[in-house]
Amino acid sequence: MEETFSLRVKEELARSEAARPCCERAELLGLIRAGGVLEAGQKGLTLRITTESPAVARRLFLLLKKISGLKAEIAGRPRRIHHHTLYSVTMPAQPGLKEFLSRLGFLQLERRPVPAVVAAEDCCRRAYLKGFFLGAGSISNPERAYHLELVTGSRVHAGRLIRLLRALGLKARRVERKGYHVVYLKESEEIAALLTLLGAVQSRLELENVRVVKGMRNQVNRLVNCETANLSKTVEAACRQVENIRFLVQRVGLENLPERLREVARLRLEYPEATLRELGTQLRPPLGKSGVNHRLRRLEEMAADLRRTSGSGEKSGAYTG
Ligand SMILES: [Zn+2]
Repeated sequence: MEETFSLRVKEELARSEAARPCCERAELLGLIRAGGVLEAGQKGLTLRITTESPAVARRLFLLLKKISGLKAEIAGRPRRIHHHTLYSVTMPAQPGLKEFLSRLGFLQLERRPVPAVVAAEDCCRRAYLKGFFLGAGSISNPERAYHLELVTGSRVHAGRLIRLLRALGLKARRVERKGYHVVYLKESEEIAALLTLLGAVQSRLELENVRVVKGMRNQVNRLVNCETANLSKTVEAACRQVENIRFLVQRVGLENLPERLREVARLRLEYPEATLRELGTQLRPPLGKSGVNHRLRRLEEMAADLRRTSGSGEKSGAYTG
């Protein structure tokens, strides 16, 4: 059963309108590519798509009607399977259905999973990914984990999804699971960026809130650990650095730190367990171990100075470093 945050994201996305007609087609193709099943009967092909989200079913139904002009049905009564409700949208066998699906690009899966016209335009890339996410994507509750995934049965298609995401500046990874190809994002920043790109602004804010609260909670936990645990010298140093940087952030603000110290400070807060060398490789340009050490020491000196000179708690001005 799909998690509630995932369903909320889909509800928000399903309510947001595509900007242009080209995008409506791309979104519809994504939706059908994600969950469309073709059944061959005596009268011809039938297309059926099932979803747990009533909002997605409605969106799919409206797009199908609008773009194809053909007959479509939305299941009036939800079916109860394994304690959750499934909605189905069906295009019964009828003249013109096969031609419509072919024009849309649905029937050319292995040869061309994503038509060139969709892959060429930024707006359509986003719309296609939105449709595909609505049909075959999910996102974990951020309280539990940062994870967004798209599932496809085709290896070629998985590769195309990764390329579409890369074209939008996102680095997705892939893994095989039970014969399916899973394309996923694990970094909270990237997941947040994708939600914005797809148009789920409200959900993005919700994610950001969880991130902030989680970050604060982790810092508190770390602080407790710093005070109570029997620590090695390196961990003790990292703990001390984090405490000092937090003090500086509270008193002068990260943005008022000298530029060359700001990034080191941010990285140390984000990766309290990282070694100096690891922190250095994350800097642009990269910095060696002793360079990182020097900057962290400078931050600690600043914190010490500040503690000495402003015991009263007033907020100091910017540092010149
Ligand atoms: Zn478009």
